[in-house]
Amino acid sequence: WSDALTKALPLLHALERSGHEAVFVGGCVRDTLSGRALKDVDIATSAEPEEVIAAFPNTIPTGLQHGTVTVVHEKETYEVTTFRTESAYEKFRRPSQVQFVKSLDEDLLRRDFTINSMAMRADGTVYDPFGGQRDLRSGLLRCVGDPDARLQEDALRIVRAVRFASGFHLRIALRTWRAVLRHRHLLAHIAMERIGLELDKMVGGRDPARAAAYLAVSGMLHDTKEGLPQTLLDAAERYRARRKLRGDAASAAESRMLAAIQAVQALDGIEDRWAAICCALGFKEGQAAQLFAVLRYSTARSSQLTAVTAIHQDMLECPSLNEDTRRKWTGTILGRGKSAAIQWLRLVEAIPVLSPADLDQSGYLAQLKEWKQGMQASTNKELAIKGTDLLAIRKEPSGPWLGKLLGELLQAVALGELPNEKQALLQAAADAAPSHFQRP
Ligand code: ATP
Ligand code: MG
Repeated sequence: WSDALTKALPLLHALERSGHEAVFVGGCVRDTLSGRALKDVDIATSAEPEEVIAAFPNTIPTGLQHGTVTVVHEKETYEVTTFRTESAYEKFRRPSQVQFVKSLDEDLLRRDFTINSMAMRADGTVYDPFGGQRDLRSGLLRCVGDPDARLQEDALRIVRAVRFASGFHLRIALRTWRAVLRHRHLLAHIAMERIGLELDKMVGGRDPARAAAYLAVSGMLHDTKEGLPQTLLDAAERYRARRKLRGDAASAAESRMLAAIQAVQALDGIEDRWAAICCALGFKEGQAAQLFAVLRYSTARSSQLTAVTAIHQDMLECPSLNEDTRRKWTGTILGRGKSAAIQWLRLVEAIPVLSPADLDQSGYLAQLKEWKQGMQASTNKELAIKGTDLLAIRKEPSGPWLGKLLGELLQAVALGELPNEKQALLQAAADAAPSHFQRP
């Protein structure tokens, strides 16, 4: 029993008092039985939505047509869903109709994998008609029922299979795996946003490298509705080919890539993991942007991750410590932002095989940090003068020259060629080449 389940117990009791059957179901049962922290507690019941609403003082009708009522209890919310079956799956996704039913068995039968099809009653007994506990123990991910039928009904389950296998250290059972291979082309019917959510959970989960292996070996990344970056598909293909040949020696670059992917799980944050994956795969800036656009991640996420990817590409050209490297590093911080630079340093520190340094990796990173800390300014805002100061001394109307001049002053300050002091900067601006002031 976890605290989260104990706290939700009064909901089961309330439904039972009104003469209904009610159980914990799905992810919360699976996570409890595998000793994990619960994200949310879902409840299934024989009560119909109106009956659920009648049984509680505080409810929100979240998805009545699918039988879901949100119950608010001691500041937590719980999804309470009427036992149901699904029918008439359309376009390989989402049932167009659901029927409420009275039996828990029928409800569990519509669920995707045995580990997700267990229920727990108020007295703590587990109802597990498909052997989910046995599969958890023996490390198997299995569809409930006929895998061919289940994956064709809802092709998102093809990706979910990889997510749960990697998140719970499970092997995909042979019949389920064969169905994955047979039906992977149906992924073309699944919204990219849904695939993006599943990939995000894989990257944030227990074993992203295992997810990568399953994704690569199945070939399913080729079958999405919108194309993923070619570099990603090529890497997956090479991995697949190597697996077939068994023992075919990888090139040094390939081994480094594999080692980096293996190491990704050492990182805590999901954003760091995504950034490390982009760096490990050798994405160009545009490919990272493409990936996150296709997966419908927010622009804020995408631009940060893209910036880290770009920094990595920049620094790969600078394996040794010299003046060129200092200038490149300073320039990349100005262009991509300090927070992306800090994130990149953190990744390379955690995954040394990503490091561009030819020798002495820790010395290399220490020097980059020192250069970064020595920068007197890294944004226009930190500069000791403002655009209005420049307008005043040049007596010219504002125009593109202004941003350009500020940028050059910032670069000079960042490189330590000018002090970050108002007088010195005004003087430098006054001396600047007249080209800055030519109007188009
Ligand atoms: P998590 O919340 O950790 O992502 P979860 O198991 O709770 O995992 P949800 O997507 O929240 O996953 O779904 C809750 C439950 O609903 C699942 O455990 C499963 O029983 C069922 N379910 C969800 N999606 C599907 C699907 N596509 N096909 C069949 N059953 C599903
Ligand atoms: Mg859930």
